Amino acid sequence: MDHGVPFALNNRVRRLVAPNPGMMTGPGTNTYLLGHDAIAVLDPGPAIPEHIDAILQAGDGRIRWIVCTHTHPDHSPAWQAVAEATGAQVLGALPADDRFQDDTFKPTRELQHDDLLQAPEFSLRALHTPGHVSNHFCFLLEEEGMLFAGDHIMKGSTVVIVPPGGDMKAYIESLRLLLDYPLASIAPGHGELIDEPRAEVEHLVEHRLKRERKVVAGLEQLGRADTDALVKVMWMWRATSGPSCHWPPT
Ligand SMILES: [Zn+2]
Repeated sequence: MDHGVPFALNNRVRRLVAPNPGMMTGPGTNTYLLGHDAIAVLDPGPAIPEHIDAILQAGDGRIRWIVCTHTHPDHSPAWQAVAEATGAQVLGALPADDRFQDDTFKPTRELQHDDLLQAPEFSLRALHTPGHVSNHFCFLLEEEGMLFAGDHIMKGSTVVIVPPGGDMKAYIESLRLLLDYPLASIAPGHGELIDEPRAEVEHLVEHRLKRERKVVAGLEQLGRADTDALVKVMWMWRATSGPSCHWPPT
């Protein structure tokens, strides 16, 4: 992926990849620009000067909103520089209670589930999807059926769920919630578009439930066990699960 060069995904959406590739971020954080005359920047990404410049250049003086899926340091920190340069409204949820937050984040409008951003060229619906972290939102671009999934879903790898911010029960419920919406594609916070959203979401739910059954089976085999012993047994059974490579590091 080219860093700093906007790539058109459809008539309404362009993608910029931040220059922060790595173990936790894949090719880099995806920043999406929605609309052309009045633009929403979705997940401005890390506060890296080249990335901020690329956003402002692609925005061409027409950025009106900054929207954040959550406040991990690879997703939101550039909000401040972009807001200062453009006067854009900032939409998101307050930083969550884990140890990996962009504490600078201050939304001008605090999101609630089902809030709608009605722009001249698009309507963007906010869906509260706790799990990866409690303040996580996905956004549905209704005209395209495109879901901006932040770190809720990533192609080909397992999203990390770490307490206290992460919550597996909430995560599975937040995956199931997505099945209520007419999704045509998923635009994740890292990596390429996912074209078969329903199959992907169903697969993820099944994958997590399978793991849960393994934990139960491991406990049944070991009786009382600490986490290390349990992980060892589960590791031996490990068959095909993909790598866990995402923020926050564990
Ligand atoms: Zn995250």
